[in-house]
Amino acid sequence: MREFGYQRAHDVPGAVAVLAADPEARFLGGGTNLVDLMKSGIERPALLVDVRELPLDRITVTGDGGLHIGATVTNSDLAAHPEVRRRYPALAQAVLAGASGQLRNMATVGGNLLQRTRCGYFTDVSKPCNKRVPGSGCPALSGEHRNHAIFGASDSCVAVHPSDMGVALAAFDAVIAYETADGAGESAFDDFYRPVGDTPHVETALPRGALITGITLPPAPVAAHSRYRKVRERASYAFAIGSVAAALDVEDGVVTDVRLAFGAVASRPWRARAAERELLGRTADGAAFAAAADAELAAAAPLVHNAYKVPLMRNLVVALLTELEQEATR
Ligand code: SF4
Repeated sequence: MREFGYQRAHDVPGAVAVLAADPEARFLGGGTNLVDLMKSGIERPALLVDVRELPLDRITVTGDGGLHIGATVTNSDLAAHPEVRRRYPALAQAVLAGASGQLRNMATVGGNLLQRTRCGYFTDVSKPCNKRVPGSGCPALSGEHRNHAIFGASDSCVAVHPSDMGVALAAFDAVIAYETADGAGESAFDDFYRPVGDTPHVETALPRGALITGITLPPAPVAAHSRYRKVRERASYAFAIGSVAAALDVEDGVVTDVRLAFGAVASRPWRARAAERELLGRTADGAAFAAAADAELAAAAPLVHNAYKVPLMRNLVVALLTELEQEATR
């Protein structure tokens, strides 16, 4: 492990100034992913700038009825917050589905968005990997890829994003705010993660040295009727092999609003817009839910060993929407 310096940031302008001046510095939040990557030599920062004491740890209801979540809010505090549980229950459920209680106590919202893939070749420095060493190759294409992408991958990389929280944020049109030495900026969730293409090492649209300061969720009445469901290979403390965040509003038996996002199927939390379009205005029944899933999964391009994800995601979508429909008409 490379020796590194450590300092605490006391204000946002000071924090981003340090990273602007030192390209080998990194922000440290909970450290639940970064420190692991440093131990294995994948990340080798010369300086860690600890941002946990910055005043970014609040969750507030916005004037229009949405929610603002500070970047250093811990996953535990996010999942326990009464307004999150009431207005965006799928978000609270997604956070609780991730990691262990100890990790959730440490991990931050900003860090969750930036966590790296758990592809076994990425985390093994003895193997080539285009994401870790650009141009070195992607052994997952012909090797172990049971848990890899079925959407949006390329010949350069087929890894998936590991976040549960991000799946709910994708469904609810989160906006990510950041600060750089040149000023503040923001990114719609749809634009935050870059297409894989032939540059899988460039994962987000964040400018170099930018600090995520918070996330805003716009008001969405449908989000109050939402759920998150995660499938994994053991009962707890495991990454998803497929997950769905769904929200559904039904009036007189017809779908009046719907949100769907998938996890563990792409290099980013995957908003299922084709499924949403298929479902809006249709009678809320099993046939429509299956048709919506099929509309999205028509674009899936599974590899040899992960084709199981196509029926898995279809079943997840139908089951979750059926539960929400039964709840809405109870
Ligand atoms: Fe690396 Fe991506 Fe290939 Fe995994 S899938 S080995 S992360 S390039």
